[in-house]
Formats: sequence, C-alpha cells, structure tokens
Amino acid sequence: MKEDLFNLLALQEIDDAIQGLQHSIESLPEVIKQKERRVEEKESLLDEKRANLKEVLKLERSKEREIDEIRDRIVKHERQRLEAKTNIEYQTLTHEIEVEKSKILEIEEDLKLVWERMDALEHEIKELEAETANAKNMLEQEKVQLLAKRKEWEDELDKLKDKRKRLLPHIPELLLQRYERIRKNKGGKGVALVKDNVCTACGAEVPPYKIAILKSYREILTCESCGRILIWKED
Ligand SMILES: [Zn+2]
Repeated sequence: MKEDLFNLLALQEIDDAIQGLQHSIESLPEVIKQKERRVEEKESLLDEKRANLKEVLKLERSKEREIDEIRDRIVKHERQRLEAKTNIEYQTLTHEIEVEKSKILEIEEDLKLVWERMDALEHEIKELEAETANAKNMLEQEKVQLLAKRKEWEDELDKLKDKRKRLLPHIPELLLQRYERIRKNKGGKGVALVKDNVCTACGAEVPPYKIAILKSYREILTCESCGRILIWKED
C-alpha cells in the first residue's frame, strides 16, 4: 500500500509538470502575439507622426506660397505707385504696400512656429524609427528563443509522458481511477500530502486517528474537506 501511494504521489508530480508544460506551450502563441502587438503599436505611432509631418510640410508650402503671392502684389503696387497720377493714389498704394509687408512679417512668424513643429516631429520620427527597428530586432530574437524553448518543452513533455506510461502499471487500477476522477474535479490535483496535521491542498485539519492510519499506510484516506487522496510522507 505504501508503495502504491508513493507511486501515486510520483504520478501527481509528473502530472503537475505535464500540466505546467502544456500551459506554457499553449500560451506561447498569445505571448508572441502580445509582443508583436507592442511593435505594431510603435509602427502605427510612427505612421501617425509621419502623417503629421506631411501635414506640417503642406502648411509650410501654403504659407510660402502666400508670401510669394503677397510679394508679387507688392511688386505690382510699387510699379503702380511709380505711375501714380495723384497724391492720394500714391498714398493709397503706399499704405497698401505697408499692409502687405506687415502681412508677410505675420506669416513669417507663423512659419517660425511651423518650422519648430517640423523640427520636433523630425526628431520624434527619427527616435521612433530607431526604437521601432530595435523592437523589431528584439522581437525576432525573442521569437527564435521562444520557439527553441517550445522545442525544449515539447521534448520534456514527451519524456514526462513516457515516464507516466511506465509508472502506470505500478499503481492499482482502482486507485488510479479514483485519482483520475478527483484530479478532473479538483483542478489537476488528486493527491495531497499531509503536513503538520493538515491537508496541504486545502488546509483542512486531519484528525489524529486518521494521521495514525496514514502513518501506517493501512488504508487509503481522503481529505474530509477537499476529497483528495491523503498521503503521509516523513520529512
Ligand atoms: Zn484537503
């Protein structure tokens, strides 16, 4: 009986390891996807900044075009002024030219802000490009590492499954069925060690008379609280 129970305990340890490995393998695609998403976020931020820069360049061109148009008007008005027939006409044109010149100054002030924005954006884009390239590189490396890890896990899983298969004939059929049934209902744990007179799976106290039975390995006992098969193991 003692040997059966210790074989069952060994089986539980194998099953725990199998469950852990399966979880790691199954969650790997999601882990990779999350890492990819982080790179994609950087890429879309970069696209956004590039689009912003395009808009600012467009604004720069339109401001410069505006200045060119006003300059043309100034040239025209200066020419007209040379041919002015009356004082009033001369003064009106002079005033017109002054207004146009001050308009140019205003637009030039706007342009300064546009250039500041452009500089800032170009700087941000440069940094983001480096960051994105770096993140992509890292991702590729991480993917290679993770895939190698998966291979390791799969190999380990095969080994554990093999070990499990070899262990099964050493456990009585009924005990095994009982273990499998409890394990299915109890999140993968069918067996619990008893330590300091409590079930280590659920924390429930195990009465002294049961401890005595467990220590003698005469009978199979289950936890009154969680229903798992109890095993006593000397430290
Ligand atoms: Zn319990």
